[in-house]
Amino acid sequence: MVGLAEEIIKALMRNSAIDKCADLFVKHARIWLSHMTLICLGLEGTAHSFGAGIVSNDGTVMANLWDMLSPEKGGIHPREASRHHAEVGPELVRRAIEEAGVSPSEIGLVAFSIGPGLGPCLRTTATMARTLALRLSVPLVGVNHCVAHIEIGCLESGFSDPVTVYVSGGNTQVIAFAGGRFRTFGETLDIAIGNMLDVFGRSVGMGFPAGPRIERLAREGKEFHQLPYSVKGMDLSYSGMLTAARRLHSEGVPVPDICYSIQETAFGMLAEIAERALAHTKKSELLLTGGVARNKRLIEILTGVAERHDVLFHRVSPSLAGDQGAMIAWTGILQYQAGDRLDIAESFIRPRWRTDEQDIHWRSE
Ligand code: AMP
Ligand code: MG
Repeated sequence: MVGLAEEIIKALMRNSAIDKCADLFVKHARIWLSHMTLICLGLEGTAHSFGAGIVSNDGTVMANLWDMLSPEKGGIHPREASRHHAEVGPELVRRAIEEAGVSPSEIGLVAFSIGPGLGPCLRTTATMARTLALRLSVPLVGVNHCVAHIEIGCLESGFSDPVTVYVSGGNTQVIAFAGGRFRTFGETLDIAIGNMLDVFGRSVGMGFPAGPRIERLAREGKEFHQLPYSVKGMDLSYSGMLTAARRLHSEGVPVPDICYSIQETAFGMLAEIAERALAHTKKSELLLTGGVARNKRLIEILTGVAERHDVLFHRVSPSLAGDQGAMIAWTGILQYQAGDRLDIAESFIRPRWRTDEQDIHWRSE
């Protein structure tokens, strides 16, 4: 229905003889469309997790299911992860539709994570999204994974214009909206914080993901050991810390002490650049998102930052903080309502699509 109305609008817009009428019609039709219910199916599959989420345009998360590849040994191999997505994807989509209590014909839009991420994973997810859009005869929208983390955080918190600390397995960025884009104020110059935690964990015999395990052990830590505190302007670096932490382990320092030292140092670095971003942008909201946002010590440290700067703080709840489909569905709705459409023939994946390379035309200054 929504797609049909949009087609009528487009057809009218192309006819120059009735330009004025078309303008009026478009204006009223957009208001009318914004009052209609639009249900979006969002697929996330940029890395180790595959997710299917169903969200309506009033911001209700109707279903949000995901499955994460957790290899017993070693890291994530992109081809293994894409195979995982192909295996679990169709069933997750079916279950999400069932849980949302909708019939497939009520889905009016399909959105998918078009980038950034691992090529094979993105391709598998894109193939599923294209197939579903064609099968359901609904429009398709490609969503930037990092932007989706911010938008779902804004939906949950009610924040309109936060400084966002986005910390996950593949990303570490401090982001804020300026000049029509989500600008990266600071980021890691090498590995992401989640990756640093996972690689350290693996080297001392923990399974994947190691972040939660490190958090638990850190609470038992007694002695703090100096690790490289690498903040370079607004950017930071975690590879030196990883090397030094492994060296401490080979020297026989107890693992809880290393976990404690890693957390205090790594989170302290993040707090420093988040504080500077708040001071610079003068924004009044601080949002914490991404898989590492589940860490209670990080939440505590950033709560302190927010209090010192007298700004509101929200950390995205665990079910929406990691990689999942609801964030893709919600951002897909925002993009679609702002006029975004993706032709199947043009729906190429964007493995290196940075957060600050997309015009965020659904937001204004
Ligand atoms: P994502 O890439 O957003 O799916 O998040 C996954 C990353 O979050 C992995 O690197 C995990 O180790 C990390 N993570 C999950 N829970 C925690 C936690 N409680 N503390 C620290 N890191 C965590
Ligand atoms: Mg992520």
